Amino acid sequence: MRSLWSDEDAAAFTARYEERGIGEDLAMRVYSSRLLGREPQLVQHGGGNTSVKTVVKDVLGRATPVLCVKGSGWDLEFIEPEGLPAVRMDRLLELRDAEALSDGAMVEVQRGALLDSAAPNPSVETLLHAWMGPRFVDHTHANAVLALTDQPGGEALCRALYGDRLAIAPYCMPGFDLARLAARVFEASPGAEGMILLKHGIFTWGETAREAYERMITFVSMAEDALQRGARQALTPAATAPASASAAQIGPILRGALAEAFGDGRWRRVTLDHRGGPAALAFAGGAEVMRYSQAGLVTPDHVIRIKPWPLVLPAPEAGQLDSFAGQVRAAVAAYAERYRDYFERHNAATQPKKTMLDPWPRWALVPGLGLYGIGASAKEAAVAADIAETTVAVVTAAEAMDRFESIDEADLFAMEYWSLEQAKLGKVRAKPLAGQVAVVTGGGGTIGAAIARAFADQGAEVAVLDRDEAAAAGVATAVKGLGLACDVTDSAAVAAAFERVAERYGGVDILVSNAGAAFTGRIGEVPDAVLRESFDLNFFAHQSAAQAAIAVMRRQGTGGVLLFNASKQALNPGPDFGPYGLAKAATLALMRQYAVEYGGESVRSGAVNADRIRSGLLTDEMIARRSSARGVTEQAYLAGNLLGREVTAEDVAQAFVALALSNKTTGAVLTVDGGNIAAAVR
Ligand code: ZN
Repeated sequence: MRSLWSDEDAAAFTARYEERGIGEDLAMRVYSSRLLGREPQLVQHGGGNTSVKTVVKDVLGRATPVLCVKGSGWDLEFIEPEGLPAVRMDRLLELRDAEALSDGAMVEVQRGALLDSAAPNPSVETLLHAWMGPRFVDHTHANAVLALTDQPGGEALCRALYGDRLAIAPYCMPGFDLARLAARVFEASPGAEGMILLKHGIFTWGETAREAYERMITFVSMAEDALQRGARQALTPAATAPASASAAQIGPILRGALAEAFGDGRWRRVTLDHRGGPAALAFAGGAEVMRYSQAGLVTPDHVIRIKPWPLVLPAPEAGQLDSFAGQVRAAVAAYAERYRDYFERHNAATQPKKTMLDPWPRWALVPGLGLYGIGASAKEAAVAADIAETTVAVVTAAEAMDRFESIDEADLFAMEYWSLEQAKLGKVRAKPLAGQVAVVTGGGGTIGAAIARAFADQGAEVAVLDRDEAAAAGVATAVKGLGLACDVTDSAAVAAAFERVAERYGGVDILVSNAGAAFTGRIGEVPDAVLRESFDLNFFAHQSAAQAAIAVMRRQGTGGVLLFNASKQALNPGPDFGPYGLAKAATLALMRQYAVEYGGESVRSGAVNADRIRSGLLTDEMIARRSSARGVTEQAYLAGNLLGREVTAEDVAQAFVALALSNKTTGAVLTVDGGNIAAAVR
């Protein structure tokens, strides 16, 4: 591992923060914390913590010794001085004499000792940092160190490798007890430059930020070298190489098996994040995957993100996906059963009693395909997949030397159900469409972009399809979704786009088939070619998208929603708009046909009938021409409806969201036109 330290950058940091009245100690603490945070082999997603002992002025201007320590909820990679709250050292040091301290009391004292009462909670490892003498203390869950300690001979390996340079503490649950243990080990190891916490991670310290940081890099590099020297074997592949199916086929099956029906047409759904790199493939396809994957976690902190073990699935066989789906459902049920048993066994020995968390896996292994991270959102699934990949790397390295060994199950349980650990996850109320995947066609245009935003605002993951690749990408970036170039009149391209979405998120739940364009011509004289072109885009493209969506939805087996952008013309034809209106009328009938044929599989359908929306279909130039032809202002033209209000793309988008949320509505048309009786559904 290479040191990223740069004197130039460090000086720039100090200067920048000095302008804000922040001292050099804290500036250097921020700088080297970010260096640690930037290296995924050291820490990930809020893991690890750092501190500095310094002196600051209190409100009365008195010099006050404090510990500035990482605050809960901050990520080292992006930390700022506000993420390192100052805690009075005298208050932390006096706790050293306590025999025992409850978690609640510990948090209470730490909060009470904050200089700024509005600061975030100091790290759960605050006391440990305070009771180690040196000024700068760094703590990471470095992969290489974990791979060394997570073996039966881990302690001996570390002693042989580091000698007296690193103190070694046995595994102990984080919190007050670990702080006491580590302080005793620290005091008994004069001259040590850091400390290994077996099966947990590593601490280094120093009088300067650089010293502590460089020691971290040195010791981790030594562990990396030892792993390379000691590597004897690669994971043995399973005897039968599986004739595999694709990630796009397997994702929806797994996602469907993990969904939970609320019984009223709503589902709790998850999002998947597939990782199919060589390490994940070798891990999932190993002959002994059932042993090493179920042996626990590489560091206890991971339990809140990925549960004690992954779900392991059999190898899927192409052409046998129906029987595979049955095996997946059985495996998910068995996982939940095992989790309940784990909870009950350990809860029986725990005081006070805990409430069981959900029993569903956070990652899954599929031979031939690698791993899937599982989360309530794409973001959560990505975090789970990142931590799963770290697990794969550490376990693989430990197995290359000897055998992976974790802390025992009771310790994992204690960590998973530790109130201070659960507090890290925060309590965010799920949005109505959380976990659902929506595909919006024509998503690069005015109305499509508004629809994409509206669904993302409700918590959905959104795939934006548009003929214009840049437009799709632009909207996708804005909604943190997936942008795909797709000509919806090419049914093969549509099918391929849906495969991509299934690959990315694990499936599709909502289609908003929005792409369309107006075609005109007097019906008795219009060339067939115009009519056919309009039908290609305004009818067949809707059918292709709906068919592709149905294919994914049926693999999931958890219903879905098909929504179509109809038009006033479908209900209330206007002169010269035959080519457009006829195709839209057919699409309206298509929507009803889907309602009739797929209602039994919980697939709902609906259409929005909108009119006079400023958009790519009704351009500024058209608005100017039509309003002047009628002798009214543009505003009066746009608001020429019963309510006298202009209808916007956002109004249309909200109508689609309303249909998506109406669990007991199918075959319905929702009109969004400010009121036009001639175009009313009858
Ligand atoms: Zn830790």
